[in-house]
Order: sequence, then C-alpha cells, then structure tokens
Amino acid sequence: MNTLLLHCRPGFEGEVCAELSEHAARLEVPGYAKGKPGSAYAEFICSESGGSERLMHALHFDRLIFPRQWARGEYVQLPETDRIAVLLEQLASYPVCGSLWLEVFDTNDGKELSNFCKKFEAPLRKALSKAGRLVEDASKPRLLLTFRSGREVFLGLAAANNSALWPMGIPRLKFPREAPSRSTLKLEEAWHQFIPREQWETRLSDEMTGVDLGASPGGWTYQLVRRGMLVTAIDNGPMAESLMDTGLVQHLMVDGFTWKPKQPVDWMVCDIVEKPARNAALLETWIGEGLCREAVVNLKLPMKQRYAEVRRLLLRLEDAFAARKIKVSIACKQLYHDREEVTCHLRRLS
Ligand code: SAM
Repeated sequence: MNTLLLHCRPGFEGEVCAELSEHAARLEVPGYAKGKPGSAYAEFICSESGGSERLMHALHFDRLIFPRQWARGEYVQLPETDRIAVLLEQLASYPVCGSLWLEVFDTNDGKELSNFCKKFEAPLRKALSKAGRLVEDASKPRLLLTFRSGREVFLGLAAANNSALWPMGIPRLKFPREAPSRSTLKLEEAWHQFIPREQWETRLSDEMTGVDLGASPGGWTYQLVRRGMLVTAIDNGPMAESLMDTGLVQHLMVDGFTWKPKQPVDWMVCDIVEKPARNAALLETWIGEGLCREAVVNLKLPMKQRYAEVRRLLLRLEDAFAARKIKVSIACKQLYHDREEVTCHLRRLS
C-alpha cells in the first residue's frame, strides 16, 4: 500500500510529480514520483512503509493544485472471470470502507473502460456489502477502485473528507440553457470547489455586489446574476441581451486592469486571458486594497515550468499580504473546466 496514485488532466503529469515531490521532501517522506505524459495520472512511490498514509494525513487534498483525485494503495491483477473473488481476497488486508467509487483515468481508453465499470459496480457493491467490507459510513475510508484495464485495478483508499468531491474529480454540472457561454461552468465549478455548499446562502447572497472583469459575453456574470447579485461587467465586447434585460447588470466598456469601483464590492471575478503575473497583480490590488472581499481569478499557465510559475505567483501574493499585515485565505486548483490554466480563490479574512 505504498503508492499514492493521483489523477490529473492529461498532459499535467509532470506538474503533479513536481508538486508531490516538493511536498514529500518538505514532509521528509522518502520516495519518488513518476508519470507518463498523457496518461492522466502520476504516482508517488514511497520507499518507507506508511509513507503514503503519512503524506495523505499531512496534506489537504483541496490545497493541492494539479491532482484531481488521489488514493493510496496498490495495483492488483485480475483474472478474466471471477474478478470479485480476487478483489475480496485482496481487500482482507484493507479496513472496512464507508463508500465505494469505481474510477478510470481521463483518457480515451478510460472512457471505454467506464462502460465496464458501470456494469461491474452493482455486483461488486453487493458482494462487498455481503462480506462486511463495505458499510454506509462517511467517517470510514472511501474505497477507490481505479481500473487501468479490465485486468488491472488500483485498489486505493482515501478519506471521504480529504479527497475529490466527485469521482475522478470530474463534476457533473448541467449547462444552463440560458447561460451565454460554456465558460459559465468554470465559475460554477469554482464555487463548488472553494465554497462549502452550506455557506452559499451567506457568501453568494442576493444582497451582494460583484464585478466581472473580462465579462463578455457573460457566462460568469450569469452565475453572479443567478445568485441575485448586482453586477458591474467590464469588457469592450458585448454582453448577452438576456443578462442586460435582468436589470441587475451595468456594462462598462473600460480596461479591466485600470478600472476600480467607487465603493468596495463583495465579489470580483476575472476571466481575462493575460499573462498570469498581471492577473495575480489584480488579485493583490483588489484584495489588498479592500476593493472586494472574495475573488475568483483565472491564471493562464506558461508553456514550461508550469508548477514552479504558479507556486512563485502564489508565494508572491502571500508575501504581499503579509507585508500589508492582512489575513487572506488563498486557494488554487486546476479545475476540470480549466485547460491551460488554474483558478485562484482568495478571501480576505481581516
Ligand atoms: N468569462 C466570460 C464568459 O463567461 O462569457 C468569457 C471571457 S473571455 C475568455 C475573455 C474576455 O476578456 C474577452 O471578452 C475580452 O474582450 C476581455 N478582455 C481582454 N482584455 C481585457 C481588458 N484589459 N479589460 C477588460 N476586458 C478584457
């Protein structure tokens, strides 16, 4: 059980390896990371027993940037028939689990395998329950079975409250027909990711105001309006008429990097495709000067050294807020709806 398996967007295996290696070195967990480009996963192989468990205990999954899901465990070879018997045998050394997810990697092969998983899940669930290996209990570890093929599975464990919110870290969000652009799902996913559901009523309330920098045609503004907020949409491009008709949106054709609100607002969101350092500087100004309380901003990734660059920008933000003596919570994640970018969420706490 000494492998930590981490799912990611295909092409970002190197970033996951860099991120995990840095954390493992800091936590003094010996081992090495490997990830085949395009495979949509990476592994951290711990060289001391208990290493993967120690890593998972010490790290908050939500604080990791590139991994979409994680589990500690080992690979098991499966026969062509009676796979369940082999799995039950292997699971004898695992703790009783509180939930079960069957997962695949986010590749074309993975998509094909997901049909097999759908068929396999019900009989497996039944057999595990009957054998007392699976009970409904959120405090017990989640059993994550990641199929690499019909003949090979990673038998993994993760705490339900310290792993992905959705199987494979892929949210199943429905595209709202009235939304002006598909990128609306990105902001919706960000809210699921960064704001606990039970806090939506207070932190995304209809008594709030928001600013959307780079708003056209209005996918992100749509999400703010959907929560009943009054929104200032900044963009030289046009806004969808349906949004303007709500009476909740003021559209200003000005530069998002220089415009500032006369009164502080509750939310600032920014989807302008620019150099990441420029967008990070916006965060520093808006949160640092108290122009907004919370912000969601996209950071476009450079071609190389993507993890190193994101870490550098986040550290710079931390230093800037420390110098101003203000407390800010900073989170950053490559969301499922992000491509060559990551999404940052900042919340001013003092
Ligand atoms: N979030 C939008 C949505 O959901 O519909 C899509 C935004 S699009 C990716 C980026 C937008 O940023 C473009 O409409 C572009 O006009 C705008 N933009 C680029 N530079 C800008 C600037 N300096 N100030 C304001 N908007 C800018």
